[in-house]
Formats: sequence, structure tokens, C-alpha cells
Amino acid sequence: MPTVTSSEAPAVRKRRAGRILTQLRKLYPDADCALTHTNPFQLLISTILSAQSTDETVNKVAPVLFKRFGTPKKLAEAPTETIESVIHATGFFRQKTKSIQGAARAIVSEFGGQVPDNMDALVTLPGVARKTANVVLGTAFGKNEGVVVDTHIGRLATRLSLTWTSKDSKDAVKIERDLMATIPRKEWTFIGHALIWHGRRVCGARKPDCAGCSLAKNCPSASTFDQTNAPAKSKKR
Ligand code: SF4
Repeated sequence: MPTVTSSEAPAVRKRRAGRILTQLRKLYPDADCALTHTNPFQLLISTILSAQSTDETVNKVAPVLFKRFGTPKKLAEAPTETIESVIHATGFFRQKTKSIQGAARAIVSEFGGQVPDNMDALVTLPGVARKTANVVLGTAFGKNEGVVVDTHIGRLATRLSLTWTSKDSKDAVKIERDLMATIPRKEWTFIGHALIWHGRRVCGARKPDCAGCSLAKNCPSASTFDQTNAPAKSKKR
């Protein structure tokens, strides 16, 4: 088993990251975004709605919203109370209504009705920070401009020691910077999807299944979890 430490040299870390990527490619060749969408606008709105919610809930709510207000113009002009009512189940519905309607209005007024395809423009939209912009750029436009860092990816990057400047799995800025320094650019979108899938199936927040994990040989945390707590079966969805 290779020796892995949090203070490993960058070249050693990159080689280990390469082995992790190889395993993730084998495990999840079809890793993709779980939010149902047919265009960049739908993905943008669904990603904003997914904050503090679940993909399952958003995938139930968003089609109802898009059936009534399926374009930036329609959403921009929709009655605010109606949007709040439709997206209520995703939580924080008032703030999310402000964000998605504000984004729709800005897309209409500033970008000719088209979701912009670059980071600088996307982060000017209400409710859109780097994480949401990375989701849209990577998944809807096929552009590797950064790495999405959500709770799953933050947790796994920390456990796998793919971040070293951050000891806090919630420090998305540092974690993204470390991942970008370690993972080849062409893999930035894939590793986001794959780490989310692995976090949901094997490396859960409370009970990582290290004994059944294909990444264990390259994971510095593999021996730190009490295996008596490991789940009998991997949780899949
Ligand atoms: S070995 Fe354990 S901590 Fe490391 S990625 Fe696998 S499940 Fe997570």
C-alpha cells in the first residue's frame, strides 16, 4: 500500500490523484449531474434551487416551474407569489425566488436572453457564485473553468487529502484551488460528479465504508475510521 500523508510532495500527490481518478473512472464511467435539465437555463435555475435541498426534491419541483415559466423572459415576468408557491418545497423559497427571478431578469436585460457561458458573467447573476457557475459551465457548456465544491466534494477532498491548505471541509475556496492544482484540467468536471457519486454511495458523512472502498489504497483516511461503524451494505441511489 502506498504511503500517503497530508504533507506529501506535490508530484507525489498528483500521482496519487491520478490513481484515484483512474479508480473513479472505473467505478463511475457515467458520472453526471443528478439535476434533470435540457438546457443551460434549466440547469442554472435547478442548481440555485438545490441549495439546502435535495436533487430529488428539485427534480420534482423544477419541471412544474419550467412548464409554466420555461424561458428567462417568462420567469422574469412571472408573478413573484406564484414562483414562491411553486418552489416552496425546496426551502428558503423567498430568497430562492429573488435569486432565480433576479437571474432571469439579468439574463434578459444584460445577456440577450441567453445564459452566459463564462465565469465572469455568470457570477454577476443574482444567487450565482462560483459553485453554481462551475456546475453550469462544466455540465451545460462542457467548459472546465473550475471544480464544483459542495458538501460531498469538500468532505471527500479532505479525507482523500486532495486539499492541504484547508483543514475545514467547508472552505470551498481553498479546496477548489487545491483540487485545481492537483487534478488535470480536463478532469475538473468529471471529478466533481464522481466524488459526489462516491460520497453518496460509499464515503458517507457519518459512516464511510472504508472496508469496501476501491479508493482505500490511495486514501490517507482509510485507517482512521472505526470499521465497526461501517455500513453492512453500501447505500446506493
Ligand atoms: S477509504 Fe474511507 S475515507 Fe477514504 S474515500 Fe474510501 S470510504 Fe472515504
